Amino acid sequence: MGLLDGADAVLFDLDDTLLDYSTARDAGVRAWVREVDGARHPGDAVRVWRELEERHFRRYSAGEVTFDEQRRARLRAFWPHLGDAADDELDRAFSAYFAHTEAAWSPVPGAIETVKALAARMPVGVLTNGHAELQARKLRVLGLADVPLFASSELPAPKPDVRAYEAACTELGSAPVRTVMVGDDLTNDVEGAMLAGLRAIWFFARGAAGTSPAPVITDLRELLA
Ligand SMILES: [Mg+2]
Repeated sequence: MGLLDGADAVLFDLDDTLLDYSTARDAGVRAWVREVDGARHPGDAVRVWRELEERHFRRYSAGEVTFDEQRRARLRAFWPHLGDAADDELDRAFSAYFAHTEAAWSPVPGAIETVKALAARMPVGVLTNGHAELQARKLRVLGLADVPLFASSELPAPKPDVRAYEAACTELGSAPVRTVMVGDDLTNDVEGAMLAGLRAIWFFARGAAGTSPAPVITDLRELLA
């Protein structure tokens, strides 16, 4: 029995499912910190930046701040010398950091061949919490610009709100019950999808193992079996 038996369509998460976002982010932070402040310990900087990203991106996902505001809040907390900086100075600082992460963008092993093979068989889309323009750029870098993109900045609500999955299924033309969501985030890609009536598969590639209510894969190519 294949994991996708009975499925009419597949939705993939993007960051840390198709694009190895965490590795690129950590490499970007290390390069950026070396550039701005050679005295700051890169290992410590990576840990602090990760925590700030998690906290402030959650506020964006909850609709409490805009996409740009969550970036600026991270910078103010991260760099003492930017504590009182104006927005345009913060935005320039973020661009400098981001250029370093973007230089390190690379696919998750097996992601491209898996998406292309599945897209030849059934509708495949990407459902991601993030800004549409940025997420589209990531798909272009991966060579997956043809894959339909559903980004939370253009959806009624971000994952794990059921409206996110419903909107993506409607666009793909698939019934939720016959659509499979694949992603690395237990809340956004597994539990939320199942609440919306989709099937889910947890792509578990890093971090601490949790208890999954759905099948678990550690390599995306398992979907092709
Ligand atoms: Mg993810």
